[in-house]
Amino acid sequence: MSFQLNPLPYAYDALEPFIDTLTMQIHHDKHHQAYVTNLNAALEKHPELAGKTLEVLLGDLNAVPEDIRTAVRNHGGGTWNHNLFWQLMAPKTGGDPKGALAKALDAGFGGITNFKAEFEKVAMGRFGSGWAWMVRKGDKLSIVSTANQDTPLSEGLTPVLALDVWEHAYYLKYQNRRAEYVSNWWNVVNWEEVDRLYSAK
Ligand code: MN
Repeated sequence: MSFQLNPLPYAYDALEPFIDTLTMQIHHDKHHQAYVTNLNAALEKHPELAGKTLEVLLGDLNAVPEDIRTAVRNHGGGTWNHNLFWQLMAPKTGGDPKGALAKALDAGFGGITNFKAEFEKVAMGRFGSGWAWMVRKGDKLSIVSTANQDTPLSEGLTPVLALDVWEHAYYLKYQNRRAEYVSNWWNVVNWEEVDRLYSAK
């Protein structure tokens, strides 16, 4: 059973005006699809890996056969990261996190305003293509970034928030203005899902 492209959990235009329709179409149907296709092509060379989840493969890349390790890292990472990214956004969200997550952000970062500022700094500091993340290890939350399609799963960390800062995620609407993309992105963050991931210990 090969991996499939997960459908978007909302319409292409659902995140307008913050994320535009054409970007969503190309990002999901072309970029995300390409990661899935290339991942499956790599895994075909090793039928013994059939049935392993992406979490297992990415969680221990050293256990992946060397001839496809880079492909699994890049395309498996690209597949998994985007699966998460779509879930972490939703139309008509906005507002701030509530409940256990809000308490954790207060304790870890001194509140949502400081958290957002620190997250934006990390997102802006990623040179070239990559991702900004909030990750959990035990009870501790931290903000990290990764290059390319590397995923914190490979570092033993559990992602609870993810922002794609590849140019393909924003260039059509924002061109070189990554900062504007990042600050607008807060309007579509699905905090309920972030809280669910944070609380799923
Ligand atoms: Mn992307």
